[in-house]
Amino acid sequence: MSEMHAVMYHYVRPSPDRPPHGYYHLALDDFRRQLDHFGKRYGFVDREAFVGWLYGERGVPDGVVLTFDDALVDHYEWVLPELRRRDLWGLFFVPTGPFVTDRPLPVHRIHSLVGAVPADSLRHELEAVLDANPAALDGADSVADAYGEQSSGAAVSEFKRLLNFVVSPGDVQAVLDRLERRLDGYESPSVDDYYLSTEEVEEMVDAGMLFGAHSVTHPVLSRLSPEGQRDEITSSVAWVAEQVGPQPVSTFAYPYGGRETFTDATIDALVDAGCDAAFTTESGVIAGKTASEPFALPRRDCNEFDHGGATFDLP
Ligand SMILES: [Zn+2]
Repeated sequence: MSEMHAVMYHYVRPSPDRPPHGYYHLALDDFRRQLDHFGKRYGFVDREAFVGWLYGERGVPDGVVLTFDDALVDHYEWVLPELRRRDLWGLFFVPTGPFVTDRPLPVHRIHSLVGAVPADSLRHELEAVLDANPAALDGADSVADAYGEQSSGAAVSEFKRLLNFVVSPGDVQAVLDRLERRLDGYESPSVDDYYLSTEEVEEMVDAGMLFGAHSVTHPVLSRLSPEGQRDEITSSVAWVAEQVGPQPVSTFAYPYGGRETFTDATIDALVDAGCDAAFTTESGVIAGKTASEPFALPRRDCNEFDHGGATFDLP
């Protein structure tokens, strides 16, 4: 039976010299080694075979599909040249908020904080902000275990959990503003430092890359009302379609991406927006049953394969 491995990447960079600094990233040399390894061990799925499979015109292709989340500047600076050199393509998922609002997303402001400030201080300052602004807590602590234990320690996990899953989605930016003001000398990252520019997106499209949507504000979609989910999906899919131009398929990646982060209403909105497929972050290969659910396609983190371990140097 054929097996397709969709592999997921975020930060890929030679050094932690820009935000989020010491936060987890895949070192560029490891990325290169991993591509070598994939080429030898699995081979890469041809773009036309991937598209043909999504259209139901052929079976599951064998090999690796490379996916990259969050429209990070890394994907232009270091990933694109590597893919070009090897005549490969990738699928890039764009959260469209930064392009529209010129503000970094909460998820990336959080990474930047964790990469620059000791986790215990962050946790302590966040609790002070939340004590002073209890209305920001919506109490719907429904996905408490989403992060589980991480090697960076419980303080980082708890800091991220509070902001991503406990603070009301509409209040997160304001909570982060207050938190950052309490940290002497801390500088919030700029959109230019962090994300692709529209010109870079254009160049990547010309080089054969595929783009998909990844919501507007990168929320846990299942925490939103059905209307809220629909707005996030419709606007981001429309932005990608307009920015990127005609692409053979319309794809989406669920923010955070576990099974608990989307619902039937999410899938309905994706279908109505004209999407062909959506990726989760649930680990697994695409084959057999998983291949028959195009709106719940599994992906494997790069760290599940040789050379894919994260590099980090947290403060
Ligand atoms: Zn993301």
